Formats: sequence, C-alpha cells, structure tokens
Amino acid sequence: MFFAVILCKLIRAVGRLLGRGSSLPGQIVLKLFPGVLAKLRLPDTVIAVSGSNGKTSTVEMIAHILTENGKTVIWNREGSNQTEGVATTLLCSSTLSGRVKGDVVLLESDERYARLTFRHFTPTHFVITNLYRDQMTRNGHNEWIYDILADAVKDGSCLILNADDPLVAGFARGHDNTVWYAMDRTPYSTDTLQGRYHDGAFCPVCKHPLTYDYVNYASAGRFHCDHCGHASGEPRFRVTEVDLEHDRIVFDGSWPAALSFNGLYNVYNMLAAYSAACLAGIEPSRAADALSGFVMKNGRVNSFTVNGLPAMLLISKHENSVSYNSSIDYIVRSGEPCDVLVMVNAISRKYYTGETSWLYDIDFERLAAPNVGRVVLCGKYCRDLELRFLLAGLQEKISVIEDPDAAVAAFSKGGRRLFFVTCFADKARLGQAIRSVTGEDKI
Ligand SMILES: [Zn+2]
Repeated sequence: MFFAVILCKLIRAVGRLLGRGSSLPGQIVLKLFPGVLAKLRLPDTVIAVSGSNGKTSTVEMIAHILTENGKTVIWNREGSNQTEGVATTLLCSSTLSGRVKGDVVLLESDERYARLTFRHFTPTHFVITNLYRDQMTRNGHNEWIYDILADAVKDGSCLILNADDPLVAGFARGHDNTVWYAMDRTPYSTDTLQGRYHDGAFCPVCKHPLTYDYVNYASAGRFHCDHCGHASGEPRFRVTEVDLEHDRIVFDGSWPAALSFNGLYNVYNMLAAYSAACLAGIEPSRAADALSGFVMKNGRVNSFTVNGLPAMLLISKHENSVSYNSSIDYIVRSGEPCDVLVMVNAISRKYYTGETSWLYDIDFERLAAPNVGRVVLCGKYCRDLELRFLLAGLQEKISVIEDPDAAVAAFSKGGRRLFFVTCFADKARLGQAIRSVTGEDKI
C-alpha cells in the first residue's frame, strides 16, 4: 500500500508537469499492485454515478451540494471515469497506510467499466441516470450496455434509480435496496413518445408494448407494462413543478431551485444529485438551496459574442441523439430569431469512426421552426449533414461550407443570435475558427 500510494502520487506529479491525463498513474499502479483498490479504507459514504448521459453534470452537482454543506469530497473531477482514473483519484487522496481522506468518495463511472472498477469495492450508493443510444460504434445498443452495467450492481449498494427510464428501472429487479427518483407530469410532458425513434416503445423485460401515462422527454416518463407488470417505481424524490419560462423547479412540493440552464435533461440531473445528496445525509432544503442557480464548470453551454452578436455554444455529443435533441429543443424553445451552425468534423476524440447513422436519430426536422433562419453545416462530415437536412426538408435554410473558418465567417453575418451546435470532440477546432474569424477568445 505504502509503495502504491507513493508511486501513484509521484507519477501524478510528474504527469501534471508534462500535461498528461489522470489515468496513467492508476494504470501503472494497477499493473504493479492489482489488488490495491480492494485494500483501501474508504469513508462510510461512497457514491457512484453511471449511465449514458448526465454523469459528469450529476457528479459535479453532488460534489457542490456536499461541499457547500461542509463535507470533504474526494471525486474524479477530471472526468477519468474508467478503472485507472478511479484508482488515480483514490490513491492520490490516500494516506500512506491506504486510508482515503475525506467524508465522501464520489465517482463518475463509465457504464462499461463500472463492473471492473466495482470488482474491487462496493459503492454504498449507486446512481444510474439513464441508458440511451450513445456511441453505438463503441458501446453497441443500450440494452447491451444494460447487461454489462448489471454486472456492476452489488447487493451491498443502495441503488438510486431514475424511475422514468424503462431500461434503468430493470436494475431494481431482484434488488431490494432501491430508491427511486422521478419527474411529475409538467406542462412540457406529452402523452406519447415523440421524436424519430422510440427506444421506450417496448418493455425491456417481456418485449410487449409499454404504456406511458406521460412522457417528459426522449423515453423518460411514467410507464407500465400491462403484460409483465414492469413499471416506474414509486419515487421517494420528485421534481413536482417545472417552469422553464421562469427558470424554476420545485423538489418534493416544497423546495424551489433556480435553473441556470433550462432543459429538461438538466432538471433530471439536478434531481439525481438532489436524491443522492439527501441520502448522504443533507437536508432536502439545503440540497435544493445549493443547487439553486448553480453554474457548472463542466457546463455544456458557453455564452459569448461574435461580431457584437449574442452567441451560444451548445455542446452536444456526436453519436448521441438525445443530447443533440436537447440542444435543438433549447434553440426552438428560445423563440428568438437566430441562425444555427452544426459542425461534425471529428466524430470522436478517442477513436476513429466514419459512421454517421446517428444523424438519422436526431430531430433536425424541428429546425423548420420559424425562429430559425439559416443553418450552416460544416466540418469533414458536412455532406452527411447535408443529406440528412435535405431529407428533413430544410433545403431552403441550409448552406454547406466544409472549412470551419470559412463557415464561421459566413455564419456570423446574419445579424441574428447565433447558436453553435457541436461536440466536445470538435470544440477545440470550432473555438479556433471563432477566434481566428472574430478575435473572440471566450470559447
Ligand atoms: Zn413487460
């Protein structure tokens, strides 16, 4: 233990000087001392967060609530969420005898690696946010991810599950210690599934059609299966009111919080964080207060100006239609006259893929809304985007300019508000184009 901790801290320090990421120290230490994680003495509360979307945001929010309430939180804030990154976080926060210094350990865990990480230790609380289509070239279908993640769920954990996700709800089968969270019907709910594909149409247990009482977004809503009885659990924590016009929500009928970004997916993340924090011993009113108006460092939204025009970068994830749909929903809901630039240049930062079928899962049709003026399509995959937009019937609105610099230059002349929609994978290239064209350096 002594050598493992020393070595991890040393490699981390050297790695920082060289600008290396946070997974390498854990990777080396786990090679030399494969059993070291199991021997660490962890605090009484160990919270893990997994799921397709919202992990990083949920973890950042939980850390904020706990810290605001005087707890010392050890968490993988750099987002390295595979086993090696978790090892780095824990060992670098340990004493030389292997006691992790902190009141709470909080870990974002990749859905595919959770079963490897939690082979070494069992989280006391395990939050699962949702399972959506995400990076299908790497992850396959979300029902396949369900099977893999199910291996990470241990009897010793209290599961904190999104009751509104039919696939996530399956983790409660055979697991008594489950706490549910859910969003009530809101003015934005619909009676049936909307959008281009319906992952929630069939019961993940028996494959018969599911019935929804209401849908909040994507496949999230109150559901039940008439055939096998699979259904949303009875929530202990709820969002009982949502007012996106006034950026306000209410937890459990009593505790209001202001939204720093109004999107329903963001409300679900806040609810997950609120639930986990309450179960970790924070008073509900204090958890809601801490979340109120909280602006995340890892935020998916970036506001700035381009040639004097208000502009916003909405980070969406390539290969993840739910995240794109959230951005489109924000643009359409804003109702402001605007232009939109969509960039797909590198599909992933981590691996090469030229697979673009996910473009057909995104509701680009909604950009036909009258407040949306021009749509500029750019990046290496601009022709794939063009075909998708032609099939969406948006030929009147689009211009296709492959080079990001030329696209930004042409885009910023419309005199309307500007929305940039792209992925983390393309943020650096887009930022470079915006800087070179406008001198704006806030992106
Ligand atoms: Zn069923």
